[in-house]
Amino acid sequence: MKVYFLFFAFVLGQICPGAENCLQFCTSNYESCNLQCTDSFCLSQCLREFDRCNWGCPCEINCESGCPCPISESGWAFCPENETGYIDDTIEPLHYDVDLRLWLDPENQGAHETEGDFYFDGKTSFTFKPRNDTDYLVVNFFDLHFSHVGIINLNSQYKLDGQKMYVAIPWHGGFKAGIEYQFEAEYYGFMRPNNYGLYLSTYKDEQDRTHYLAGTQFEDEGARRVFPCIDQPNAKAEFTLTITHERDFSWTEGGLSYWANTGMPGETYENPAGSNVITTEFAKTVKMSSYLLAITVTDFISIDTSSVIDQIPMAHSYRPEYSVPVFNRDDVARLGIYYGEMGMPKIDQTALPDFSAGAMENWGLVLYREVSMLYNRTSDRTVTKHNICLTVSHELAHQWWGNHVTCDIWEEIWLNEAFATIFQYIGVEYAGDLDERLNWEEDSQIGTWDLEDWFIIGEMMAGLETDASVMNSQPLLNKENTWNIGRWGPVGIIYRKGASILSMMRCILGDDIFFGATSYHQQNLAYQNAVTDDLLNSFDGFITDNNIEIAANFSLILTPLSRIIKQMGYPLLTVDIDQFNNETAVKFTQQRWIGSEDENDIADQPPSSFGYKWSVPIVYYHSVAGQVTQGIEWFSDLENEHSVTTGEFDFFLVNHEFKMFNRVLYSTVLEQKILEQLSSKKNVFPKAARAKLVADYFAFAENYELTKRDITDSFEMAKFASEETTKLVWDVIDSATGYTSTILKFTENKGVLDIYMQGQVRAFYDVFGNAIIGTDADHLAMERALGVACKFGLSECVNDASTEFNLFVTRVNGVVDYENEPMADRKESVYCYGTQVGTQDQWRLQWSRYATASSNEQAIIRRSLACTKDPVMIQVYLQLSTQDDIRLQDKHYSFVALAKGLYSRDDTWAFIKSNWDYFYNMMVNEGWTRVGLIIDALAESWSTEEELKDLEEFFSKLDQEDRLANLEKTFLNAQITVMKNIDWRANYETKLIDWLNAN
Ligand SMILES: [Zn+2]
Repeated sequence: MKVYFLFFAFVLGQICPGAENCLQFCTSNYESCNLQCTDSFCLSQCLREFDRCNWGCPCEINCESGCPCPISESGWAFCPENETGYIDDTIEPLHYDVDLRLWLDPENQGAHETEGDFYFDGKTSFTFKPRNDTDYLVVNFFDLHFSHVGIINLNSQYKLDGQKMYVAIPWHGGFKAGIEYQFEAEYYGFMRPNNYGLYLSTYKDEQDRTHYLAGTQFEDEGARRVFPCIDQPNAKAEFTLTITHERDFSWTEGGLSYWANTGMPGETYENPAGSNVITTEFAKTVKMSSYLLAITVTDFISIDTSSVIDQIPMAHSYRPEYSVPVFNRDDVARLGIYYGEMGMPKIDQTALPDFSAGAMENWGLVLYREVSMLYNRTSDRTVTKHNICLTVSHELAHQWWGNHVTCDIWEEIWLNEAFATIFQYIGVEYAGDLDERLNWEEDSQIGTWDLEDWFIIGEMMAGLETDASVMNSQPLLNKENTWNIGRWGPVGIIYRKGASILSMMRCILGDDIFFGATSYHQQNLAYQNAVTDDLLNSFDGFITDNNIEIAANFSLILTPLSRIIKQMGYPLLTVDIDQFNNETAVKFTQQRWIGSEDENDIADQPPSSFGYKWSVPIVYYHSVAGQVTQGIEWFSDLENEHSVTTGEFDFFLVNHEFKMFNRVLYSTVLEQKILEQLSSKKNVFPKAARAKLVADYFAFAENYELTKRDITDSFEMAKFASEETTKLVWDVIDSATGYTSTILKFTENKGVLDIYMQGQVRAFYDVFGNAIIGTDADHLAMERALGVACKFGLSECVNDASTEFNLFVTRVNGVVDYENEPMADRKESVYCYGTQVGTQDQWRLQWSRYATASSNEQAIIRRSLACTKDPVMIQVYLQLSTQDDIRLQDKHYSFVALAKGLYSRDDTWAFIKSNWDYFYNMMVNEGWTRVGLIIDALAESWSTEEELKDLEEFFSKLDQEDRLANLEKTFLNAQITVMKNIDWRANYETKLIDWLNAN
């Protein structure tokens, strides 16, 4: 899955040290802690305890009855022999027949009375074989209402309750090992507009008629909401799906008929003959996990009809005017060279109007959010094209990484996601190599894209940031973790750090070994499940089986890799000048990098059997007498320090390509040499090296205690930016200065930072700030230059944006023709800064475009409407955001934009407080999972005692009223953020302002 934000329901976890005691301990501890905590560290610790209790403890064990897997309300079975929350593998499911009848007409809900919910009827049977004798068949299901359940060949009948996550079905004669049994059930369930399980989606046509659609999202436990099954990654089976639905509805008059789709081809007939009801029987799937099934029932058309042959992707949407970067036959074949056949005979791609993730890699039928798949060549931004290509490539990579070879349990999910993430770039690399490029657009320019730069920004930077926090980090292999008990780690770890580590391996081992070993892994484990050790064994096995001689240095990667995967965090390398064997040398030491002073005391937590030491590949770049050379050495975890003999040099840089996962702190002597170089001949350093220095030195200011570098040292290191015109470096500067500018934006010192940054960005803006016709890279640079320059108030930027906006959104004789549409890559700034000083009429005109705009255009409009200075329009926008005009999947975006807005933040907070009933109801009853992001967005800029008090009071009020929904952790984290902001201002604001005024 490609996610924007992952918000899974808190999953009850694996640790259960005596449920009652733990609960009691945790509850009292949490309460007293919350009352007494006055500093952020105490609160962090409290929060961790609270998490542990909240996730790990409230299991209702009642094993005395002899039930081997008692049912808990929370849905998980906790037994002495099964504390994992997974059904054990005693039962092997073989083949499922799932027969569903969907009712998509609100006026006609089949056999059920309409109560505002949409229904489906289901009939499911599956064959299974016990691996050992057992008295129980354990099956997952949720929110299904059964009329019949039985084991066919035992002639048995059961009564099941629809609200359980699973049930253990007893058979007192016992199920015998090796005998095939058949389970069957008839039931009905619901299709709700909640983007999970089998759900309802809608769109409006030109006549304003609502079209109802059905789609699915099964990862990770959605399949059990549609049919009873063993719903976990390692319970692979074959599936035969049959879907029945009405072909035409009142709203399809004059339009297209409905059709059903799944990951396999199907045959359709009228059922009964001559009626409006049609049935499609789909061919049997390969052996696969239940979470990878997909179903759609839509009236969509194909938007890429050039691809109709087997193995070629086809794309569907209700918006015919868009194109999609469908990878052509050669692209697919190229990955297939390494990884074998794809498994399913097709790979359809469908964009649903409502979809919770960015996209989902369902085998044979990939589903997308519209913004992740549909691209309008004339009006959409370049970055959208890039993101779409990467997303499509990501999902395609999943057909092997995740679908063919699947993580054994969710704690191993990095095996799916880290590989899909690195291969999203590799897939595009391949596409760029081909003469034809991507077949969807001849001038796609893929061959010119700076994929390595994107990787640094999209993956490496985000991975380093997430993994810097003791409290929020997890190892890639989450199973080893004992702190945060969620099954999936944060996206920053599982996707970003995971891909960065794989990229590091590719860099060190070379493509022959990297692709050879991963191909070996794929072929050995096709249609099976894998754990992390399988991957490590595949590297070992490939090298041994093929008698590959690798340099002694390189063999080091295989054993130390488990240190990287199973251990939290990553190394901070400290580099100093030294003497070694009477020669000038550079000496390295390492320790765990901690991104916050508050956590220095717990740098050795949770205890690691590896002691928070790593074998670190040291890639260096230095200049001796004007000659630049580079080298690589290993700093073993067995050494206390490591020296590289250099002789006299002009400068010495480490990790200059920004491909290794670490931070590098130089001694003041080395730092001085670097600063001299940056101020006189910065281009001797590769752009990635300059980006790395900025990224690391801004991170160092977050932990002065450890680094003895504060925020003025960060700005000192980035001073060269006044002559910097490279997008990569400006991407990093924009992100690195984000914290400072977010805080100062709301203070009286805003102007000081603005003036300094205007001077810094001037050169970059002069090159890229004006409307340019150029390569994709030029367009991306233009968007960045505008973004930074306008943010800090560079007058030309803001004035030009406003002028372009007035040309576009203007009435001539009362009518707007929207003829002067801004260049796509200027829209972000033009809309925002135009709206900021625009009229109420212009604001309303922009809003009136929202309903019919493309999803990509909608995203820009949503952000820009929050830029207004007008308090009336802010109130209007807050109200509108609660209405259905903004889809559930997008609601948080408008509120977050308002919460971050210079003029709208305080009104947004007031609105949330006085309308909490709305937010609470949306969370509890309507499946809105992203309200926490709005609180996060508010807290990131609060930096006064009054704001903290206000937050605490509201939190405490909700807590007392029991109306927090599941936002306890969000509110506690928000308090920590505000405390940190207050501290930062007390310690550094004056010093920084003095520095900015002097420079
Ligand atoms: Zn994914």
